[in-house]
Amino acid sequence: MATIDLGRTAHEHAAALRAGEYSARALAEATLARVRAQDGDLNAYITFTDELALQQADAADAALRAGQGGPLTGIPVGVKDLIGTKGVRTTAASKMLGNFIPPYDATVAQRLNASGAVTIGKTNLDEFAMGSSTEHSAFGPTKNPWDLTRVPGGSSGGSAATVAARGVPIALGTDTGGSIRQPAALCGILGLKPTYGRVSRWGVVAFASSLDQVGPFARDAEDAAALLGAVAGHDPMDSTSAPLPVPDFTERFGRGLDGLRVGVPSDFFGEGLEDGVREALERSIDVLAANGAVINRDITLPTAQAGLTVYYIIAPSEASANLARYDGVKYGYSYLDGRNAEDEMSQTRGRGFGAEVKRRIMLGTYALSAGYYDAYYLKAQKVRTLIRREFDAALEQVDVILTPTSPNVAFRLNEKLDDPLAMYLNDLYTIPVNIAGNPGVSLPCGFSEGLPVGMQLIGRMFEESTLLGAARGFEGVTDWHRQAPPERG
Ligand code: GLN
Repeated sequence: MATIDLGRTAHEHAAALRAGEYSARALAEATLARVRAQDGDLNAYITFTDELALQQADAADAALRAGQGGPLTGIPVGVKDLIGTKGVRTTAASKMLGNFIPPYDATVAQRLNASGAVTIGKTNLDEFAMGSSTEHSAFGPTKNPWDLTRVPGGSSGGSAATVAARGVPIALGTDTGGSIRQPAALCGILGLKPTYGRVSRWGVVAFASSLDQVGPFARDAEDAAALLGAVAGHDPMDSTSAPLPVPDFTERFGRGLDGLRVGVPSDFFGEGLEDGVREALERSIDVLAANGAVINRDITLPTAQAGLTVYYIIAPSEASANLARYDGVKYGYSYLDGRNAEDEMSQTRGRGFGAEVKRRIMLGTYALSAGYYDAYYLKAQKVRTLIRREFDAALEQVDVILTPTSPNVAFRLNEKLDDPLAMYLNDLYTIPVNIAGNPGVSLPCGFSEGLPVGMQLIGRMFEESTLLGAARGFEGVTDWHRQAPPERG
């Protein structure tokens, strides 16, 4: 059989599978061989799921032979190792869950399986999704396929790196403050954080429950729409999931950029933004305008600046409560040689969690403690309401808000590891979107210093289709999404 072109998108593979050019099994085998070969360099995976993949591929082939199946039938996918998968180790990149095998699938994993997709493996991340570089992983850092001395971003760095490297065409990530969009930007692919409530969180290891969302990585808008369509929708098991119908996320693909109202807030182009990133963004704004988009530079989001501060109160507070469950008794890592029960619990947590996770637990416990609650947590919630209103008001005047995704291109491994504040600043532009709850997408829009630059588009609540329609329009007039990192190995 001819070698399979693994640089194809999911929809290109889907057409080839349907035409009988190759089987889902052959595609799965070729994909597994490629991602394993790449992983010596990238370390994008924590676990490969060969057995599951081949089983799913055979089922996909049977469905395809029967003329059944959908856009993802037989398509290889990577799954962030924060998403619970039945019978498959789910680690959250933590020693705490290093040997944890969930007895059930997260709702998104169930839906992915039902779509006919083929799970290739569980991808690397910052421990419990806390970080912006995938360096805080108990399984070692993931590398950026564009430059192996640089980070892929984080926390969903494994998913971003393997999609960028043409290992798998699509992958799932999670985004609490930027963990899909920022690594998508740093790796030169598309990453979308859905509206809070669009996708079920049930069975996903919890970080900050009022902010966490699962979403797709892909190389174009069509594949992102297919993956989001497969996992989105109301779930009675998650009380924060929205009881809304799931639209066809390609519904705005025909519209192009003509008449699209794009707001460009100067608040997001200030201090700290690298010149090369700013220039790539400005050129892209010109491309949008030249193709009929209406650029509005009058919208402002002054309070969104406070997003980072608000986030580093709310997210650690929720994390400190969510991570209280890792006590060495219920499941996960357990230190059994202590002097007494209390000592064993503290040894379990002391040895099981990494430094960044401990930092978050301490910050959150402090912010929630009696006497400080009103000053920090309550105040942060009030500012959160103001930020949400500000986004709503701006999005009455425009269809999408355009900002940089990250203030910088991919930075070097170890560069920010000892400076948590510098690390936190990476999410300056993505975090306000989680605080407000709106959907956001990052698209490749150019290069600076030979590294990819991402453009963030923010939409109205539950208007992911508008974002994907705009992304599709931009893809139609540029070819940034077709740029591939160097082949290795
Ligand atoms: N980098 C941010 C943090 O460390 C966001 C992480 C995320 O979105 N999961 O909390």
